[in-house]
Amino acid sequence: MTDRLVRSGYIRRPSVRAAFLAAPREAFVRPEDRDEAYQDVPLPIGSSQTISAPSMIAIMLEEASLEPGERVLEIGTGSGYHAALLAAIVGAKNVVSIERHAGLAGRAKANLAATGFREVAVVVGDGSLGYPERAPYDCVMATAGAPRIPDAWPGQLAPRGRIVAPIGASAHGQVLVIATRGPEGRLEVREGTPCAFVPLIGAQAWPA
Ligand code: SAM
Repeated sequence: MTDRLVRSGYIRRPSVRAAFLAAPREAFVRPEDRDEAYQDVPLPIGSSQTISAPSMIAIMLEEASLEPGERVLEIGTGSGYHAALLAAIVGAKNVVSIERHAGLAGRAKANLAATGFREVAVVVGDGSLGYPERAPYDCVMATAGAPRIPDAWPGQLAPRGRIVAPIGASAHGQVLVIATRGPEGRLEVREGTPCAFVPLIGAQAWPA
């Protein structure tokens, strides 16, 4: 799978390639889906949620331009797979991931521990409010789609911090937005690829 993602141009950075090789996707999908773990497709993970397609995750990791030691908040832990990839790049203790479904968060914790990423912090809560307890972050990466960038996120960014998030007026179709905090705290916003994520449900996103 990693070779295919490199050949098709989704993976460009050596650090992203190394992360895909370090995190076994089969350990994050349901047992009945293991045969499909290395296909480039989203798969169900329970609670009506999905683990994203690997090519989409590769695009997000490339857009984030992460360096070792940077601090990352992932919003939407799901299975924990994306958090494991982030951890492989920046270091597990630098990743906090927030999930609104306690059941998914519990399974993600177990998946991360079983694959050597125990130090990733998984918390249960509403990620549309960010997670101020561990701010500032060099990157806030959302894996669920919001109608706009929630007001809470920019203030939790470090200087030159990035938000990488699916943003769109429809709950099921978005554009990947990359917003970088400039020297005066203003966001420089760029639009990347069209995408289709499950909705971000929360106080500063879509209603439940
Ligand atoms: N990153 C995940 C993975 O690697 O498996 C896939 C994430 S799935 C596409 C989106 C996740 O966002 C779901 O697990 C969903 O429950 C979660 N979510 C939706 N709204 C949320 C919110 N306000 N705060 C935290 N998590 C949220």
